[in-house]
Amino acid sequence: MSISEIFGSNVFSTSVMKERLPKKVFAEVINVMENGGNFSMETADVVANAMKDWAVEKGATHYTHWFQPLTGTTAEKHDSFITYPKEGKTLLQLSGKQLIMGEPDASSFPSGGLRATSYARGYTAWDITSPVFVKESGCGVILCIPTVFISYTGEALDKKTPLLRSMEALSTHALRIVRLFGNTTAKKVTAFVGPEQEYFLVDREKYLKRKDLVYAGRTLFGAPAPKGQELDDHYFGQIRERVGAYMKDLNVELWKLGITATTQHNEVAPAQHELAPIYSTANVAVDQNQLTMETMKRVAIKHGLVCLLHEKPYAGINGSGKHNNWSVGTDEGENLFEPGDDPIHNLQFLLVLSCVLAAVDNHADLLRESASDVGNEHRLGAQEAPPAIISIFLGNQLDEVVNQVIKGEDQTSAAGGELDTGVSTVPVLHKDATDRNRTSPFAFTGNKFEFRMVGSADSIASPNTALNAALAEAFCAAADALEGAEDFETACKAYIKDSLTKHQRIVFNGDGYSDEWVEEAARRGLPNLKSMVDAVPVLVQDDVVAMYEKFNIFTKAELVSRVEIQYENYAKRINIEANAMIHMASKAYIPAVVAYTGDLANTVAALEAVEADATTQKALLAKVNKLLKEAAAALADLERRLAEVNTIESLEGLARFFHDTIVPSMAALRAPIDKLELLVDQDVWPMYSYGDLLFEV
Ligand code: ADP
Ligand code: MG
Repeated sequence: MSISEIFGSNVFSTSVMKERLPKKVFAEVINVMENGGNFSMETADVVANAMKDWAVEKGATHYTHWFQPLTGTTAEKHDSFITYPKEGKTLLQLSGKQLIMGEPDASSFPSGGLRATSYARGYTAWDITSPVFVKESGCGVILCIPTVFISYTGEALDKKTPLLRSMEALSTHALRIVRLFGNTTAKKVTAFVGPEQEYFLVDREKYLKRKDLVYAGRTLFGAPAPKGQELDDHYFGQIRERVGAYMKDLNVELWKLGITATTQHNEVAPAQHELAPIYSTANVAVDQNQLTMETMKRVAIKHGLVCLLHEKPYAGINGSGKHNNWSVGTDEGENLFEPGDDPIHNLQFLLVLSCVLAAVDNHADLLRESASDVGNEHRLGAQEAPPAIISIFLGNQLDEVVNQVIKGEDQTSAAGGELDTGVSTVPVLHKDATDRNRTSPFAFTGNKFEFRMVGSADSIASPNTALNAALAEAFCAAADALEGAEDFETACKAYIKDSLTKHQRIVFNGDGYSDEWVEEAARRGLPNLKSMVDAVPVLVQDDVVAMYEKFNIFTKAELVSRVEIQYENYAKRINIEANAMIHMASKAYIPAVVAYTGDLANTVAALEAVEADATTQKALLAKVNKLLKEAAAALADLERRLAEVNTIESLEGLARFFHDTIVPSMAALRAPIDKLELLVDQDVWPMYSYGDLLFEV
């Protein structure tokens, strides 16, 4: 089959609806999709029935409300289409009511105290803005209906509801901005997102023997392989056959789901790769990224591989992130982040730019929080990923524009210019006005901003909710100030100048990895929240609560619940890692080294019995023994500290304890064992090495 036949074949798309629904019903559905509102139960029944018929033709037996609880992944509970048998016969059915609303038992999903267990009702409600699809898996074919998930009292129990609310807020206030510039026809402004997804592949047989990968998704032990990524020979390198076959299959599966998987390449680290789709509206991008991650894992198994989405599967080489490309545009196709050829005379662009700077500067701490995840702790602030300090890279052209506006100087926009390669057969190229900067966490890349802090395994819902909200707030402030201005142009220019002057401190075009930047950022008063545990309380900071409540995105109660969930999640995940380390050390590493020292001791005794020279063997034994003793002491220490956990009452206290005490204890256990790996006979070492995992895919 050709791509065009495959693409979207598992999606109940608008064109499928157009074919299968009566004209009037179709028009009603499109209207609700575009403008919101409800439709009648009769309409819902007709849509549900058409959906069921379509799915059954595709082999579906069940349907599910597919949602995104606060675990950060997706949830589904399958119900078959079968009805109660009548005269020995069953009918297949999906009613409008079943389509629109569900009531899964919510008691086992994290709610951070929003819902007492005795009060377990949670509702799923159809999110008509995200397409319905069928999913093929070991369970057969399942009709998936994207839904939001809310409590009995209407609080969001998921990641999707606040995102949708943030998109509405952004649309409302962005429309006020474009109206200022005379646009009377746009009906909606949408946030667009294109997430670049990084991942590692590992051989499944080997994976299953590494219990740290199985339980924690990352290696908790492991000495570096002789070769890492220092030759830069993997990045954009030739894709190995087995990996290529995986990518080929993966693309087909994603295309069927209407996901525009388009870019694929090898990433910096060995066995690391990237996949990027073409961008779409933020809510669809969030859903599709979840589906992409799920599909990546499922397809890998078929190829005898496992797809690792963890942010840092291996120490010492690059981890994985998710570059969140974000822009904002009208329903008429105008991208508000498009500077045009002459940005300095593009007043609307300058106002939008000043609002982005204000949004990111005002809520730098919230944006950093929105990208916090337990796995991402290993990336942010390390020498490979953006630092934990938020700043904006604008590039030469816009940087110059900002400077000129602030100084009120002669106003000319720098152009891109031509690029001469010095090779006569290569055409002269027109270069971009902006170079790239790999070290910036938030970079302007032509007509979009690329938020690079997000972790590879994380949902992109929270970062986009925060971005949309912060920009809606800045747009709202600008519109409040400028609507009704007597001389709009003068007022607008003054507003832009003021705002850029106030927020220029967030702009940084230099090396984000350098120590000087850390000092400079501190001088500028920019937040540097080093850990997730430091970042979590930002969610209930006054300015954040005020913004989210003002724009109806989160209530205070919803934010408090998310704080609890984050702390708890941190503590639980580190607890699992610590326990996995204890298991591996006491059941595999230490016994193997004990046996090895026994063998060495026997060798020494045998050599000495025949009066042969045993100095080498003795020296090795002494070295190994010393590290073994260190490992045993570190193991005992970790076990002892872990037992102290029971005395801690608050979730915040627990998260802090894991961060401040358990994480360093884990590092102390890992260090001697990694050293031992390089000393002990590889035939007796009980675990696959980094070399085995990274270079034998
Ligand atoms: P890079 O060269 O930085 O990798 P790409 O052009 O490959 O940039 O784009 C990376 C991602 O950004 C893709 O998912 C792409 O679809 C998305 N993207 C491109 N333009 C926009 C835009 N205007 N808004 C949001 N995402 C976009
Ligand atoms: Mg990129």
